[in-house]
Amino acid sequence: MYDASTYPKSNALYAEAKQYLPGGNTRTTVFEKPFPLYASHGKGCHVWDVDGNRRIDCINNYTSLIHGHAHPGIHQAVLKQMERGTCFGMPTESEISLARELVRRLDSVDTVRFTNSGTEAVMMAIKAARAYTGRPKIAKVEGAYHGSYDPAEISLDPGPQQWGGNTPNPVPYAKGTPASVIEDVIVLPFNDPDKAKELISLHGRDLAAILIDPLPNRAGLIPASDAFLGAIRETADAVGALVIFDEVISFRLSHGGAQALFSISPDLTTLGKVIGGGFPVGAVGGRRDVMAVFDPSSGKPALPHGGTFSANPVTMQAGCAALEYLDEQAFSHLDRIGGEVRHAANEALKRHGVPGVVVGMGSLLKIHFTDRAPANYRAVYPTPAETSKLRIFNRTLIENGILPSGYGLMALSTAMAADDIHQINAAIDLAIRAVKN
Ligand code: PLP
Repeated sequence: MYDASTYPKSNALYAEAKQYLPGGNTRTTVFEKPFPLYASHGKGCHVWDVDGNRRIDCINNYTSLIHGHAHPGIHQAVLKQMERGTCFGMPTESEISLARELVRRLDSVDTVRFTNSGTEAVMMAIKAARAYTGRPKIAKVEGAYHGSYDPAEISLDPGPQQWGGNTPNPVPYAKGTPASVIEDVIVLPFNDPDKAKELISLHGRDLAAILIDPLPNRAGLIPASDAFLGAIRETADAVGALVIFDEVISFRLSHGGAQALFSISPDLTTLGKVIGGGFPVGAVGGRRDVMAVFDPSSGKPALPHGGTFSANPVTMQAGCAALEYLDEQAFSHLDRIGGEVRHAANEALKRHGVPGVVVGMGSLLKIHFTDRAPANYRAVYPTPAETSKLRIFNRTLIENGILPSGYGLMALSTAMAADDIHQINAAIDLAIRAVKN
């Protein structure tokens, strides 16, 4: 049972947390009722809670730990840097090394600017597009998450009563979002090429950029179709707007990121999560002429950008080490285990006669308890009954040695071996059976 008798230490920590943190919470995403489980430590693919329970970590800090916990190579790189100081009001060689590696991997990226989070990377990419084009508006996809910058949050999780017709209403996410922000965001229905062309053309003269995650997790982890991406690229070029790929999560899909797997090339790319090796990070990279908006070498840049901790050497060294171990062999392992878990979970759904589908690519997968075809955000938007099923599924995983995310997302790591995958599949089978009963 998920209660105070089973997890007394987590329960006590939460009681104390409520005194000092609003609702006892810092990250809404890790909030759980009646209380979240508190982490004690992690090693490899395992994480322990403070009550001593070990689980296979299938969320890996929301996709950022691609090598699991306390990877020895990353650990050494971090210790070495810590002995030399943790941050300086001077640039360090380590930021050149990580930028060089990202440029080497991403075909569309000529230069890189580091930030402290994916949110900031998205914010700076939007500001760079505005500075480059001199235009105010952005377009984004209904249901897609891009962090907490106001314009990027528009229509993050609208419910059916807020959708509007074929042209989605821009819906504010947070109370207090200024009307001007809402007016400057165009919302595209996912995987609808004709509507994308129509809306981008209609707002073209004011449009700085189209922000798109090719595999948007919160919109269902459904891949963008070639036709949709093609329509976006073609119409963006026609109206002179930029295309920003948000690869904060999807960079973990291949050596060249998601953009190597999809059919179009973006002007700007935002990164985060895995490129920091487990430390806070973000980056925006892209075409040299666009990235020149950040360049301070000949006076005040079009877009001044600082950040006390941007490109801090501990993160940079951890990121370099994480990417060193993220080679072709690592990707084929991740692709294989991701395929195995997706297959096993889809088979379990069929075997137990539970309506549902497991979608995803590479090391990412997501379960939807619906018999509707997983075509876009609206199609997989859960009914209250489907939300209850996901809750039972997650609780059963937690009780059977697996740590999932609240959103049905799983992100696997290179630290997982055949036995771990076997254990994950067995727990998923039990969890789907529990949903049925
Ligand atoms: N973009 C995407 C696609 C994300 O999934 C996230 C975070 O989950 C972000 C941006 C924001 O990144 P961060 O949490 O580092 O601010």
